[in-house]
Amino acid sequence: MAVVLDGKQVAAELQDKVRRQLERMAPKGRLKLVVVLVGDHPASASYVRGKQRTAEKIGLAGEVRHLPASVTAEELLGVIDTLNADPDVDGILVQLPLPAHLDERTVIERIAPEKDVDGFHPLNVGRNFAGVPAVWPCTPAGIMALLEHYRLPVAGRHAVVVGRSNIVGKPMAQMLLQADATVTVCHSKTPDLGVHTRQADILVVAAGVPGLIGAEHVKPGAVVVDVGIHRVDGRLVGDVDFEAVAPVVQAITPVPGGVGPLTVAMLMVNTVRLGFRRRGWGGDEAWQ
Ligand code: NAD
Repeated sequence: MAVVLDGKQVAAELQDKVRRQLERMAPKGRLKLVVVLVGDHPASASYVRGKQRTAEKIGLAGEVRHLPASVTAEELLGVIDTLNADPDVDGILVQLPLPAHLDERTVIERIAPEKDVDGFHPLNVGRNFAGVPAVWPCTPAGIMALLEHYRLPVAGRHAVVVGRSNIVGKPMAQMLLQADATVTVCHSKTPDLGVHTRQADILVVAAGVPGLIGAEHVKPGAVVVDVGIHRVDGRLVGDVDFEAVAPVVQAITPVPGGVGPLTVAMLMVNTVRLGFRRRGWGGDEAWQ
């Protein structure tokens, strides 16, 4: 039976580390994360509440700017401009998805790269791609922290990523590549998924399809990370059929309690990293 990788525990440790660092810096000031929520998407509202709660718990000022679904692009960009210019704001996150009349790309590109805690701004994407230190998107960064915590080696392993979104799949593949894995990326047009996934020493699944990966898709002894999250018959499940896959592999993340909490913890880490950098409180070494 596989080791169940406890994302909740690793996230709690990361948060604690950030909390201690913020405590140490408290005499200098309090870092601030602002989450912009547009409209009343129930899942988004709950994610935003979770982010604000965690921010406050670890000693960041966490603010939610709730704008109506009818907000115009001009008004939303105006809010971002104000936050960009506010010296007290260290991190800005616009919760996605946005209502259809707002162009996500334009909004993401408006956020000042030095406050882009999601790591979605093209400047940060480009820096990451080029191997220049920037902040990585929270979900893949959280997965790397999890692998590191459990001392699961990446260098020299064959990593297969299922999914190529800008938020998860692409940056995940890039992070694994920079950690010296040999990387294969699969997606909805990959003809025979199993041919690739069965070769994976590390399999990261972010397809958004409940139960996509079964026992027949994995190599015995692999490490499996399930990013998917779905409510099916009132219960949360992932993209991996946990009951079928767990007995075959070395290690696996559960849903819930796997990748989700790590994503939120990495958002805090990114806020602190960017805040420290912008305020001249020291580089990344200062908070480690
Ligand atoms: P997305 O819909 O933007 O991308 C899905 C990707 O999977 C696409 O690249 C698509 O080509 C690929 N895909 C779809 N069906 C496939 C199939 N049958 N075979 C192979 N590839 C397939 O989704 P996303 O934003 O990357 O999120 C993926 C999943 O992860 C969703 O369930 C989402 O809710 C979840 N998610 C969880 C967290 C977290 O913190 N736990 C964070 C982000 C996303």
